[in-house]
Amino acid sequence: MPQRPYNFSAGPAAMPDEVLLQAAAEMLDWHGSGMSVMEMSHRGPQFGQILAQAEADLRELLAVPADYHVLFMQGGALAENAIVPLNLSHGAKADYVVTGSWSQKSQLEARKFCDVHLAASARDATGYGSIPPLNMWKPRRDAQYLHYCANETIDGVEFHFVPAQCDLPLVADMSSTILSRSVDVTAHACIYAGAQKNIGPAGLTLVIIHRDMLNHALPSCPSAFNYGVVAQNGSMYNTPPTYAIYMAGLVFQWIKRQTEDGLQGILALAARNRKKADLLYTCIDSSALYINRVAHDCRSRMNVPFFLRDETLNDAFLQGAQQRQLLQLKGHKSVGGMRASIYNAMPCAGVEALVDYMREFERLH
Ligand SMILES: *Cc1c(COP(=O)(O)O)cnc(C)c1O
Repeated sequence: MPQRPYNFSAGPAAMPDEVLLQAAAEMLDWHGSGMSVMEMSHRGPQFGQILAQAEADLRELLAVPADYHVLFMQGGALAENAIVPLNLSHGAKADYVVTGSWSQKSQLEARKFCDVHLAASARDATGYGSIPPLNMWKPRRDAQYLHYCANETIDGVEFHFVPAQCDLPLVADMSSTILSRSVDVTAHACIYAGAQKNIGPAGLTLVIIHRDMLNHALPSCPSAFNYGVVAQNGSMYNTPPTYAIYMAGLVFQWIKRQTEDGLQGILALAARNRKKADLLYTCIDSSALYINRVAHDCRSRMNVPFFLRDETLNDAFLQGAQQRQLLQLKGHKSVGGMRASIYNAMPCAGVEALVDYMREFERLH
């Protein structure tokens, strides 16, 4: 197969070639079943095996303790913005930390269901680009939970630590950082993530939730979105997104096979992701043309937004990139500029090709 272009899409995002090839090979006949995974009953033995293996691999990769449930849901992270307060707020108080566009959306949606307070907010005149110091956060002691977004996909702001400084149950949107490195699940009451950034196809939402957080849903919570109901039915209350779960399972296996610097699995990916991000930020910081305005201690290793100081060159930059087989580098419409998303599936060689191109483009202009 000829080498595919490097795809820097923020999501739905690039998948490992190996995984796509395996899915292609198994498309018409999964393991001698005579069926595509898309055609199987979700309650049949074959799909049962696929789901159980996916859950076991995810638990192993993230060291998910036995008192946490793994739920395979639908609706994406934006549905979770409603599902979380419907299940966890008791219709009472919930606190939010806003460090970018996605957590801003989360807190706005939660206002439909409960009394929301911003424990901290990082927006300034130029937008989002920092995390307020923990000692400035003002969570309410009687809030039901504290919500934060571990990686702001649009603004390129990432928590490189777990903000567990207060006693409130922590809820995290990890859509764009899950499985890019290890994370302390036990510091969280609930973690959710849409699959289409760093896991697999759109349509699947992962939820990792402590068992004590189940069964507190508001009476008005739809059954299919009730964590307790979904957990009790092993993610089979209604038909789960079967094919997306199968693809996620192939990705989990791919992650387990990764090696880097003598490390294996998620540690290997974390090391590789750090190298990729360092390479790109070094290129940006050492240039007179490119700029990234995010504070150094919270720069995202997954999504690297940057601007050309001469914005009239934007189109030429994107056209040249396209010619070099470097795809989908245009920034989010709300912030403009460029954004390189370098999730797990992006190899080091992809970032090296981008950096080579950026240096050459700067020399020419
Ligand atoms: C992409 C993204 C969302 C939105 O996810 P949907 O699947 O479109 O609902 C929310 N939060 C974060 C951090 C994201 O990266």
